[in-house]
Amino acid sequence: MTKRIDTLSKQAFERAKKVIPGGVNSPVRAYKSVGLTPVYVERGAGSRIYDIDGNSYIDYILSWGPLIAGHAHPEVVQALQETAAKGTSFGAPTELETLMAELVIERVPSVDIVRMVNSGTEATMSALRLARGYTKRSKILKFEGSYHGHADSLLIKAGSGVATLGLPDSPGVPESVAQNTITVPYNDFESVKLAFERYGEELACVIVEPIAGNMGVVPPLPGFLEGLRELTTQYGSLLIFDEVMTGFRVDYACAQGRFGVTPDLTCFGKVIGGGLPVGAYGGRADIMEQIAPSGPIYQAGTLSGNPLAMAAGYTTLKLMTKEAYAELEVKAARLQQGFEANARKYGVPLTVNRVGSMVCPFFTDEQVINFETAKTSNLAYFTSYFAHMLDQGVSVPPSQFEGLFLSIVHSDEDIEQTIAAQGYALSQLS
Ligand code: PLP
Repeated sequence: MTKRIDTLSKQAFERAKKVIPGGVNSPVRAYKSVGLTPVYVERGAGSRIYDIDGNSYIDYILSWGPLIAGHAHPEVVQALQETAAKGTSFGAPTELETLMAELVIERVPSVDIVRMVNSGTEATMSALRLARGYTKRSKILKFEGSYHGHADSLLIKAGSGVATLGLPDSPGVPESVAQNTITVPYNDFESVKLAFERYGEELACVIVEPIAGNMGVVPPLPGFLEGLRELTTQYGSLLIFDEVMTGFRVDYACAQGRFGVTPDLTCFGKVIGGGLPVGAYGGRADIMEQIAPSGPIYQAGTLSGNPLAMAAGYTTLKLMTKEAYAELEVKAARLQQGFEANARKYGVPLTVNRVGSMVCPFFTDEQVINFETAKTSNLAYFTSYFAHMLDQGVSVPPSQFEGLFLSIVHSDEDIEQTIAAQGYALSQLS
């Protein structure tokens, strides 16, 4: 096997480290936990990215989820070009924003009204403020190993990069804020019940990733989401689904459509922006009408609903027909089966969790149902697998606690090549 060349990426990283914290604008991009130099991307097309050293990779990061239509999809690029030619931001309403809102509302029955923001973090932060303002309560409940962006209240026992880097909680989050965040293990309904018995009257909301995607990929156990729905209703708390990752990723009507559970509020991001900076939150009309200027709860944004993001998101969602989701399901299932077959062949402990086009191989024999069981994965194996995949031209997330994403333009050949690469990686584990 020829060694991948990364001379220019190394130089670029050294230069960046002098002027950007850790050389990157978001921590997991630094490849710190796998001890390598990040790939500096020159361009992307379809299912592939091309780095500045001339290597190409089948990409399963897809900008951490948004690019469900692949890189530089011609229809998305055309929509962006046409929109940009007319101006990039006005700070005044455009009809595109209404079109986008109507499309989200049509696909997601729990959403009557939706507000656009600029990131998933803004969406969850705003939804929390709304839940607190609406219920006039302060405490929130979240799950260990879940990541909801980097707002203070939510950076407690968080997943994603926080878990990858082994940082339990972030310095800079005041104790007075942290004490209002109650955390319990994911998929542990008994713990949720106990928390409600103790704090139920003070809990403004439960915020949950309906499929946990920041401790790897962890589906909800049967009855878990339904239980949250019942308990929050009983105590007058709001149920917030953070569908920043799962929204329009796992199904036409998001995870809530897939599992048939209706939240009060939903947060969106990633796919909804088609690769541009976007987030959104929406839900029941009586709650959403509390947001300014309809109501007193303030939230605003200079670039919110900007035409470029709306154009990319709208075009991407239009590409995602019910048939497109069905095809993605088949492709992702093939990848999962290939990974599992290789693990059996090479006698490697591997549990592959998958929902729709989110796939995560954990190097463990245990069933992975929460952060504790996710952490049973053999991280030395993961690091070795990651490096071998990269060397063979397959880019998977540089963290055990993030899943692979597929796009509608990943071909059968891409999938077969990836399975072959994973087989080789498993045969070489060290
Ligand atoms: N919520 C979930 C479930 C996420 O996965 C993420 C990001 O990965 C966020 C919120 C934060 O979104 P953003 O990075 O756009 O701020």
